[in-house]
Amino acid sequence: MTDPFDDHGQVPAYKRGYACVDGEFMPAAEATVSIFDHSFLYGDGVFESILCRKGRPFALQPHLDRLEASCRYLQLGQPYSAEQLTEMIHELIARNGLESGIVRIVVSRGEGYPVSDPRWAQAPKVVITMQAEPAVKRDPKKGIRLAIASTRRIPPICLEPRVKSNNYLNHIVAKLEAVAAGADDAILLDVDGNVAELPVANIFAVRGAVLSTPPSGTILAGITRATVFRLIETAAVRMDLCVQERELSPYDLFTADEVFVVGTGTGVAFVNSIDGRVINGGVMGPVASAVLGAYEELLDSGLEPLPRSAPQISQAGR
Ligand code: PMP
Repeated sequence: MTDPFDDHGQVPAYKRGYACVDGEFMPAAEATVSIFDHSFLYGDGVFESILCRKGRPFALQPHLDRLEASCRYLQLGQPYSAEQLTEMIHELIARNGLESGIVRIVVSRGEGYPVSDPRWAQAPKVVITMQAEPAVKRDPKKGIRLAIASTRRIPPICLEPRVKSNNYLNHIVAKLEAVAAGADDAILLDVDGNVAELPVANIFAVRGAVLSTPPSGTILAGITRATVFRLIETAAVRMDLCVQERELSPYDLFTADEVFVVGTGTGVAFVNSIDGRVINGGVMGPVASAVLGAYEELLDSGLEPLPRSAPQISQAGR
């Protein structure tokens, strides 16, 4: 086995270190998946991305719970318990010696005859990798420019949004549109024209002391989003705020005091414009700043978000 860290600059940074494939650790650059794997062929699988800080995975249990629910929904009988996955993740972090980064778990339906019939793939494949956070990180003081994509979020009646599946084409097409429009990222609306989410992040609008975010029915209700709820409810964000899940229209975003987005890879990022309309003068507002500060404090503390995952649902009107 080659030394995965001694690559003489030949291997791109994201491939350095170890990966864990079906419980076995190997250099990530040497790990392979079959060309007959059903995730490669059909996107038939699920995944989780988990943030690591100070060598610890953040909110691991909620991620493992969501992974298990996604597997159950797709009837993917992956063989490992949450305890076994936890052990593998800790070992991978230790072997890679990374203080911070993103651990990614992928469960594929596995290899099988190349037809989409899931019964041909009987042995799910479990791959865990870890990447350092990108060397060129987005400056949190710089906001992001969003464009509303014409591509709508696939509705729950077509594909259950709570399942974090390996099918991201809907999100990728929206991102392509946004990039072509000169923006950093896309906002996907649902089929009724309400705001849903970004390709890999959830969105909040601030008006006065109220933070609003779309309800969980048509989106992937993220773990960072749930963490923000808890930071506000427990007054870790040192402002008098309340948070509600409600339908938001593009109008609500255009007229908000502040808009910000959250996700495992995104962190907390404020939005400086949407379709060229500048929000809050294009600078970070006090609420986004307080939420970012409280989130970073929580990550640095090594504490887990408190274990309630949803806020009181408020039916407040627009
Ligand atoms: N929505 C989508 C579609 C995503 O892929 C992600 C990233 N996992 C999010 C929202 C944010 O979720 P989380 O906070 O759990 O990363």
